[in-house]
Amino acid sequence: MGILRTIIAAGRVAEPAGPPPAGEDLPAAARLRGSLQLRHVDAGSCGGCELEIAGCFSPVYDAERFGARLVASPRHADGLLVTGVVTQNMAQAVRETHRALPEPAIVIAVGECACNGGELDDGYGVVGPVSSVLPVDLEVHGCPPHPDAIIAALRRVTGR
Ligand code: SF4
Repeated sequence: MGILRTIIAAGRVAEPAGPPPAGEDLPAAARLRGSLQLRHVDAGSCGGCELEIAGCFSPVYDAERFGARLVASPRHADGLLVTGVVTQNMAQAVRETHRALPEPAIVIAVGECACNGGELDDGYGVVGPVSSVLPVDLEVHGCPPHPDAIIAALRRVTGR
């Protein structure tokens, strides 16, 4: 009973939702209205973008209330959430994970490294940004991007 009383006393802790986005300018593959299951792939990140993604799916930002969810298998996903610059060791894994997604699949690049190479672009083991191995539908800029920016991108796709 103690835990129940604490939950009731704490109330809702998530950030205010704000109005739903328009999203009409997105490509057809990105218009997965209502629900979006995402497989996340770290292609060569420093770990900063993952912290912010974890924050997005925490009770504070609660991305699931907008219809976005992380799933364990690309077979169950509508899209790919890619963080980090694509390293030579991960390039094939990124391509194959994308191939395992049912069509139409959306690709969202999260963070400067994923969008344009960022700080790590000239590393010796780097292939390039995500667009060098996959067609990218949405980019979320920032190093790392704020959870608000990541959630705004996910809401553009779900329309919620
Ligand atoms: S964008 Fe910044 S935080 Fe994200 S992986 Fe690159 S260096 Fe790290």
